[in-house]
Amino acid sequence: MNPIFPFPTPTNAAQATRQIAVAARAESMLPALYVGGEYDTYNCGNGTYGMMKRSYSNAPDTTYTLRLDPVPFCSCPDFEKHGDFCKHLVALWKVEYAAYEAAQVEKLEAEYQNYEDAENFVY
Ligand SMILES: [Zn+2]
Repeated sequence: MNPIFPFPTPTNAAQATRQIAVAARAESMLPALYVGGEYDTYNCGNGTYGMMKRSYSNAPDTTYTLRLDPVPFCSCPDFEKHGDFCKHLVALWKVEYAAYEAAQVEKLEAEYQNYEDAENFVY
């Protein structure tokens, strides 16, 4: 898994500016996604995710459906308008990459433990 969201190559300054703005908004969502708060994600299986935004008012919460593979998709208005990426997708990518990275570290630590156990084995 790539640590960077697969943004399309911008062809003009406005597209580059939008990517930077969306990446910054996604970054600001991360504390809520990691420790709970305004946003929550749900892995629904089959590569589908749900992302909920709490309204903290009488208005209903908002929930979007997302997919990262094979082509990123989100059911939010921003994605519907542009059809390429949105803050939800970029934030979900970062959360999923962090989980992937943590799993890799765990795997390497288990492998290292096996080597250490083998070295300490008394015949
Ligand atoms: Zn979205």
